[in-house]
Amino acid sequence: MQTTNPATNEPLATYEPHSPETVEKILSRADETFRDWRERPIEERESLAASLGEVLRSNAGEYAATMTREMGKPIDQAVAEVEKCADLCNYYAERSAEHLQDERIGAEPGTKTYVSYEPLGPVLSVMPWNYPFWQVFRFAVPALTAGNVGLLKHAPNVLGCANAIEACFEEAGYPAGVFASMQIEADRVADVIADDRIRAVTLTGSTRAGRAVAAASGENLKKTVLELGGSDPFIVLDDAPLDEVVDAAVTARNQNSGQTCIAAKRFLVHESVHEEFVERFGRAAEQLTVGDPTDETTDVGPQARADLLEELDSQVRRSVEAGATVETGGEPLDRGGNFYPPTVLSDVPEDCPAATEELFGPVAAVFPVRSDDEAVEAANDTQFGLGGCVWTADADRGEALAKRITAGNVFVNQVVKSDPRLPFGGVKESGYGSELAGHGIREFTNAKTIWVE
Ligand code: NDP
Repeated sequence: MQTTNPATNEPLATYEPHSPETVEKILSRADETFRDWRERPIEERESLAASLGEVLRSNAGEYAATMTREMGKPIDQAVAEVEKCADLCNYYAERSAEHLQDERIGAEPGTKTYVSYEPLGPVLSVMPWNYPFWQVFRFAVPALTAGNVGLLKHAPNVLGCANAIEACFEEAGYPAGVFASMQIEADRVADVIADDRIRAVTLTGSTRAGRAVAAASGENLKKTVLELGGSDPFIVLDDAPLDEVVDAAVTARNQNSGQTCIAAKRFLVHESVHEEFVERFGRAAEQLTVGDPTDETTDVGPQARADLLEELDSQVRRSVEAGATVETGGEPLDRGGNFYPPTVLSDVPEDCPAATEELFGPVAAVFPVRSDDEAVEAANDTQFGLGGCVWTADADRGEALAKRITAGNVFVNQVVKSDPRLPFGGVKESGYGSELAGHGIREFTNAKTIWVE
């Protein structure tokens, strides 16, 4: 398993896949560790989450540099990602006991009836490279604080991050085996899912990978949470303040070099401001600095892998062949590394890749809409249902539209983002189940009824 620097395409390190014997050791240790870990007082697990946050903050520079080296995230965004993980640790250090306290029901006089939230056991997480720390911590911190143990199959291009994350838990003082990384290829995941010791599974990644993991989990009757792709609408109404909206649009599409599940991907703009929006959006996108991700002034780094760059290029080419107009960008940069410039497409035909597929890179597709109803219809005309945002001077009008959009998260006059205090997840082909907040920590628990007569 080989990691490669996507800014230069130079090889970084080689990792040996774990042997079946090593995987067996990891699974049996997870199972044994769970018996003890689940019995620890939740205050002890909360306190370890707080220590984890401290370790993240003190090693932020080193972790960020590993991310940047392996998947090309601009360094200041990589530091921000580590800090966000530390904030998440603080949230669950303070709120887990409250989220998991027994829920008194009082079903009948003279009885004691309540729901207790008990951990399930070892949970397998299959994770992607785009937020190599955040995606893992977003699963692991609540799941472990609830008393589960966590196993990680990370994406093969970020195995240095996987090792750093494992060491981070160790440095924070977690007992050995509460969190472990398994260096295995995707085709060995189904066997791990089938193992009796694995009690639940979560995956963040493409819909294709989600289907495969859900099928293996279904066959083995294992609970799953899936956080998959998206094609989030970014709706601009006729009264929206364009200065602010254009800035937000540029950030929402190009952050993390465009490789974000909740990035705005389809810009649905009222026809009265469409022309002005397209022109200003294109100009603003051109102002972004594309280049060396280790440079703090860089806005957009390389795409994480050469094959992902090729796929993005092919999606844009096919969209242009179908009739889309390139306002800016539109082809890979002629330099070493996997660089693709911020791109804005207009006149996008309904059935081309830019309209129907997830474009996982800095490419925005802009569509005119004639009314609020048409904006809602277009927003919902997708197989995905992850996030969306609405921009307007009238917050009530925005909120009314937000309620009509079929998605897990809709923001009015704000870009879509994940926040530990609020549940995060999707519907339709964007997956199911919640992460974060009280909803997320209860996903990997057994809501157990106790009735005492
Ligand atoms: P994948 O979804 O293939 O990878 C995500 C994780 O799932 C990796 O660890 C991968 O392992 C694993 N995986 C893939 N297939 C299987 C399988 N059949 N069984 C078990 N595990 C599996 O994403 P890619 O890296 O190939 O990116 C492709 C596209 O996916 C992107 O262009 C984007 O559209 C979407 N994506 C969405 C993300 C999100 O945040 N929602 C994150 C990443 C990608 P391995 O790499 O070893 O195959």
